[in-house]
Amino acid sequence: MLGLALLLSACGKGNEKGNEDGKKGADDGSLKVVTSFSILDNMVKEIGKEHLSVHNLVPIGTDPHEYEPLPEDIKKATDADLLFYNGLNLEGGDSGWFHKLTDSVKQSDEHIYQVMEGVEPKYLKGENGHESEINPHAFIDPNVGIKMAENIRDALMKADSDHKGDYDKNANDFIAKLKDIEKEYAEKFAEIPDEKRILITSERAFQYLADSYDIKEGYIWEIDTEENGSPEQIKSLVKFIKDNPVPALFVESNVDTRPMETVSKETGIDIYKDYIFSDEIGKKGKPGDTYIKYLEWNIDKLYNGMK
Ligand SMILES: [Zn+2]
Repeated sequence: MLGLALLLSACGKGNEKGNEDGKKGADDGSLKVVTSFSILDNMVKEIGKEHLSVHNLVPIGTDPHEYEPLPEDIKKATDADLLFYNGLNLEGGDSGWFHKLTDSVKQSDEHIYQVMEGVEPKYLKGENGHESEINPHAFIDPNVGIKMAENIRDALMKADSDHKGDYDKNANDFIAKLKDIEKEYAEKFAEIPDEKRILITSERAFQYLADSYDIKEGYIWEIDTEENGSPEQIKSLVKFIKDNPVPALFVESNVDTRPMETVSKETGIDIYKDYIFSDEIGKKGKPGDTYIKYLEWNIDKLYNGMK
């Protein structure tokens, strides 16, 4: 992989230009940015707009927890002025695919930004009940989305001070929208009676959201990288549902629906008619194809299903 990366980098156009004037950047003068998955791709574009040329690594429909970079990804990562990743273990942690990629193309640490910087990690229970593995899905919580936008803004302003004012303004507009949405989350969840504020999903991706809005969580598996939907996992959720007045079951856009269908059959509780989003935004032109729309979609479905 390293040999290929070096070869590609040597032929890269951006690099030739970089050698001429000692500055990086694409031929059109825009900052070359790589993002690890679809939510960051959209957020970075909202804040950087015309000043960036963005390459996203994990496509929609592919699991961001485990990913095998393509030759194109290796080339873009080699040439990038800035690389954004989620962190909190989403991309497999320190020994995961993202760090393997940045190591293999010899990207320097100062070009690599963890968007979850400053976000307090929450831990999964793990197989033996010891809280050890970090839950990466903080971006489902709009409060965290605001922090992510601030971090992206700061990184862009630092990397490209010529357009500082634009990044600041774009980020302010974007953050104002996120704050409105956060208000809507707070109001809608507050309308749902305490005893009904229970969220059932396939993966335990909603832990940050649940803690922010005082919601009880039930799930089949803790994280996509473990076994998904084993008989023991299903049995344990069925028991949880029998012990709690669960209003509805939800299925995320990126998971196999069959384990939750089994839970529905065994408990008599219906699966809500629309999926909700977790690890990715919607495909372009489909519902939830921006982070803002992703958040709006989720609160709408969660509210209607839980009330
Ligand atoms: Zn996930």
